[in-house]
This record gives sequence, structure tokens and C-alpha cells, in this order.
Amino acid sequence: MNASLAPTIRHDWTRAEITALFALPFSDLMFQAQSVHRAHFNPNEVQVSTLCSIKTGACPEDCAYCPQSARYDTGLEREKLMAVEKVIEEAKAAKASGATRFCMGAAWRSPKNKDMPYVTTMVQGVKALGLETCMTLGMLDESQAQELADAGLDYYNHNLDTSPEYYGEIITTRTYQDRLETLANVRKAGMKVCCGGIVGMGEEENDRAGLLQQLANMPEHPESVPINMLVKVGGTPLENEADLDPFDFLRTIAVARILMPQSHVRLSAGREQMNEQTQAMAFLAGANSIFYGEKLLTTPNPEANKDMQLFKKLGIKPEAYEVHEDESEQEASIVHQLQEAAMDSMFYNAAK
Ligand code: SF4
Repeated sequence: MNASLAPTIRHDWTRAEITALFALPFSDLMFQAQSVHRAHFNPNEVQVSTLCSIKTGACPEDCAYCPQSARYDTGLEREKLMAVEKVIEEAKAAKASGATRFCMGAAWRSPKNKDMPYVTTMVQGVKALGLETCMTLGMLDESQAQELADAGLDYYNHNLDTSPEYYGEIITTRTYQDRLETLANVRKAGMKVCCGGIVGMGEEENDRAGLLQQLANMPEHPESVPINMLVKVGGTPLENEADLDPFDFLRTIAVARILMPQSHVRLSAGREQMNEQTQAMAFLAGANSIFYGEKLLTTPNPEANKDMQLFKKLGIKPEAYEVHEDESEQEASIVHQLQEAAMDSMFYNAAK
């Protein structure tokens, strides 16, 4: 790390300062973001997480982007809470594919107390495989957050989604303050925070600045900051929203990197719609975490093989999970999958 490049970690960013970063010439912004990135991270490593939907659909909330809301007819099949054994199987498969973190998501307003023994058993089972664990279950009160922390949950995901000003256009069934309280409960229980938002929901650049301001001015920056590009799903209120210019997306990633130098900035939903060049520029802007696998909760995610091919082209390696992970084993798994992908493209299935 070059100490002269290491910026101070700040929690007092003004909206004007953040807006000024967004307004920089693109090359200047990218250079600044990449310089901050290199001061804190290996620029050629990307953390890889896998996401598993442990309970799909029928959510009572009204988030305008979400196909899982029971209020919108999106054709999504609702599913009951997945059995613990099935979750562990999925986690084993994720580990074999090179993931180091396993994220479990349930479409709930908040977990009921009867759900807690199931979800804590899932956490313990996934941890026992040597994976980092993350959950997103909706709002948590203090005691639920503590139960999850006691079970060994590493991260809790709860997004702010957008700026406080634009929030009411997107969700009416829970307030911004509700979200901040859940995040405070997660911190109080000692878990790491995964918190970000969604862009391309019809918001202005000032709203993207407002979202990043909220995240960067938390008493501690979230360790993981997912920046999602809206995936427009038929039947949701945002299905016909205009596309966000990819440069506006890249600027959001770059500003997030500058404001939160030590956080993992994650390329999340919407990667399916991005070409390889946009994804490569997002890594250059300081993104250093992705979801990997065939599904991102209910929206498509680029197939695992495509991710590995892109990593190879860019000389990116998956980031190892601290000291517990056998890096050589993980790399061997990736190499094995790359070889299989190459074989697949050389042969075709004559039986089809
Ligand atoms: S984003 Fe979460 S809380 Fe909102 S409708 Fe979807 S599943 Fe429910």
C-alpha cells in the first residue's frame, strides 16, 4: 500500500462534495477511484459470494422494483422456507464453485420468532463448511440481531435502496428510519454490515449522491456495499423505467469507492445486462465483489462460467476467505471449471 495515497476515512461528507465528485471528468474520477482502490486492496482480486433464496415471494412489502412483493403480479412462484438440509447442500455446491461467502435471502418484512431456530441452524451449518455467512431477512429487532450474531452470522444485508428524498417513491410500507434502526441493531450485535442500494429507478444523480452520503456518513462504513442496477421485471411498477446510462452506473461505483475506501463495493443485480467491457470498467472504478452463480435471488445472473472467463481475461483472482480458506484448492476448482467450459465449447451433444 502506498501510504501517501491512503486517504483518511471520513464520515462527514457533504452533499456538495459528493456531487462535485460525480461531476469530475470521467477519466479524473476513474483515476481517483483506482488510486484509492490500490491504496487499500489488491486491484486484481475480487471477492466472490453466492446467493441462495431460502424463501421466495409473497412478501407483504411494496418495494417498487421487487418481483417478490405479493402486491405485483410477476408470475413468480412462491416458495416456503427451504429445508435446512437443502440450504447446506446449496452451500456445499457454492463452495465447490469457488465462492467464499454464502448469502441467504428470505422475502420477509421481518422474521417471525418461529423462524429463528431454522435460520440460526442454517447459519451454523453453513459456517461449519468454512464459508462466510450472510443473511437478508428484512427488519430485525435487537434480540433477533443478537440471536443471529450468537449463531455466528458474519454479515447482515439490509439496503437503504436510494436517497432519503427519493425513498417514498419506491417504498411506502417501511420507513428510512426503520432501515437505519435495523442496521444499528446489526452493528450493536457485532455483525458486519452489507448495505447499499439500487440505481436506475428513475432517481436523479443527486439521489445517487444522497444514497452514498448516507452510507459513507454511518458511524462505521458498511463492510460490503452492493450497488445494484435495476433489473426491470414485468408486473412491477418500475417495469418500463428508462435505462440508466452505464457511465452513470460507473460513476456511482467510483464515488462509492472514494467515499468508502476500505469497503468491498459489490457489483450486484443487473450484471446480466452489462457487457464485459462495462463490468471491466466497474472493476477499474473500484468494484471488488460480485455475486456468482446462476441466480441472483429471482433475477438472472451471468452464468458462473462467463464470470470465470472474464476473470481470466482480466487477470483477476478470487479473493481468499482470510486464513481459513485453502486458496490453492479454491483456485484449482476455478481452473477445473474453466477447463470444463473449454471442453464444452469444443464438443456438442449429438443426442440433442
Ligand atoms: S425487496 Fe425485500 S422487502 Fe421489498 S418486496 Fe422484495 S422481498 Fe419484500
